Amino acid sequence: MSSPLEELFRRALSQTERRLLVEYGSVFVTRATAPPFVIFPNEETVQRFQASLAISRRPIGDYEFELQSDAMESLVRTVRGAERLGFSITGRSGDSGRRSYADTAKLWERNVDKGLHHWVGLGRMSPDEAANVLGLSLSDQVGAILKLEDERQLYFSTYFDKSILQSVAAPGASQHLSMLAFDVAEYENPAVARVLALHGWHRTVVSDLPHFTYLGYSADDLPALGLRRVENEYAGSAYSFWIPDFTSKV
Ligand SMILES: [Zn+2]
Repeated sequence: MSSPLEELFRRALSQTERRLLVEYGSVFVTRATAPPFVIFPNEETVQRFQASLAISRRPIGDYEFELQSDAMESLVRTVRGAERLGFSITGRSGDSGRRSYADTAKLWERNVDKGLHHWVGLGRMSPDEAANVLGLSLSDQVGAILKLEDERQLYFSTYFDKSILQSVAAPGASQHLSMLAFDVAEYENPAVARVLALHGWHRTVVSDLPHFTYLGYSADDLPALGLRRVENEYAGSAYSFWIPDFTSKV
């Protein structure tokens, strides 16, 4: 028995793709429209995919957001359900829903720049080596940064203590490009995650606490779709994540 997710993993072309599937792959089990790539190669492929989708635009809190229609309808029901229970669910910022390839590239480049500056400053990398990394195409840069992390423990997360993928998505790999992710302002309230889960929204990226993904299934259904639940503690509170269950296959 193999899940569609395992099939995708087997067909992944590169080490980088496999790594990205492990980090962000849960989105591929969505009941809505899954992205056609593990990593979109450029802006054009993102735009073509986004243009092919049924999209809804709605105000939630202070901003208007765009998501795939199924995801947005479900989110609006969740927001109303939360209101009836006496708390709110809103977006963290204007870019909490849909993003473009350029948006995700900008976030990635910010972390890469900061990390290179940090490691050159500590003498762990030469300025020449940093310049070489900066000169790579974005898709080659993803592989180069992951290699620096794996082989030399030069990490590019916000605090330089873990993988860059736990702070920012690789360009072209963000779930926001597929319009199936929403970053919630009130993520520290445990009731928020409970109500979202009832409507098919789950945390799927470890350490990204505000980030929820529209899978369209209740938690009970997720193991049969090839996901497993992990629980981590942050600032004394426990958070659950549904991640691809590749434990026996990697
Ligand atoms: Zn997010």
